[in-house]
Amino acid sequence: MSYLSQKAQQLTPYEAGYQPPDQGWVKLNTNENPYPPSPDVMKALEESGVARLRLYPDSDSSALRSAIADCAGVGTENIFCGNGSDEVLALAFQAFFSGKNDVLTPDISYGFYPVWGKMYDVGLRFLPLDEAFTIEVAAYRNSAGVVIANPNAPTGIALQIEEIEAIVRSNPQGVVIIDEAYVDFSSCGSAVDLIGKYENLLVVRTFSKSHSLAGARVGYAVGGAELIGALQKVKNAFNSYPLDMLSQVCAAAAIKDVAYYSDKRDIIVETRKLVESELSCAPSQANFIFWKTQDGKAMYEHLYANKVLVRHWDKPRISNYLRVTIGTREEMEVFLQCVKKY
Ligand SMILES: *Cc1c(COP(=O)(O)O)cnc(C)c1O
Repeated sequence: MSYLSQKAQQLTPYEAGYQPPDQGWVKLNTNENPYPPSPDVMKALEESGVARLRLYPDSDSSALRSAIADCAGVGTENIFCGNGSDEVLALAFQAFFSGKNDVLTPDISYGFYPVWGKMYDVGLRFLPLDEAFTIEVAAYRNSAGVVIANPNAPTGIALQIEEIEAIVRSNPQGVVIIDEAYVDFSSCGSAVDLIGKYENLLVVRTFSKSHSLAGARVGYAVGGAELIGALQKVKNAFNSYPLDMLSQVCAAAAIKDVAYYSDKRDIIVETRKLVESELSCAPSQANFIFWKTQDGKAMYEHLYANKVLVRHWDKPRISNYLRVTIGTREEMEVFLQCVKKY
């Protein structure tokens, strides 16, 4: 006998990267942005007034959705906001995949997809990446749905927008979710430009990485009105107020400051290239590198002992790789020094 439901007994939760409680770490394990949010975010937060917190927030995030829509060149009816893109993705699994079989995703990708697959009774089929960790575009066809991160995580490898379009076109019966958590650091192009053309395409993005707001928990989806309407329906059957008032204000101010964030993006990409050349590592399209070492676990432990935190998975095919977030120049110097000591 157990007090837990069948489902709760069988769940395997996602394991997020470690958030150390103490200072003094070089923290390169969860792909956070090393730079602070735009000064406009601070200003907007001050002006918003904590006194207003006695009221419920706007359940539809209208002002934020309109700011995102302007930036993306789409209508507000094409935008859905959630508590981090994790929540947006979970709601999308419920709205489009729950109870279906043959939903396709790469064997090496974001660790949360299989967790939601189990949680929402989705028959996920894991398609192997090729030897170079590239997604085999031709294998994604005639499915009940597709979920792909582009650029993929933790590999940092991206498909070109034409390849994404081919996948969307080859799966007309299913929703194709493109998780663009890292697209701002890439040169592959965003699938947002395709949403007017394909009713089955949903693009999911986040403020956590490129917009330095991981702590505010803001993500969004861009898609046709039918898919966005379905997300609203599922959201309102679960939690009407997923986004708090202050996070809505912060994110709306952030997305408007295009110049600030493109400057920070350029610095991160430049730092990434420097680290890649130092380590002779495969080029990444994200704000992290996926670095092949002789012994992944040993290098992880060496770095950890020196208070440099990176990510390692004890999984087939990738156990000798480390995913290392691109921090500031100074942080990456510490990391590289530490690697040389090994
Ligand atoms: C970080 C990440 C997310 C989640 O981002 P949040 O908006 O912070 O929930 C989603 N997908 C991928 C691939 C990520 O790396």
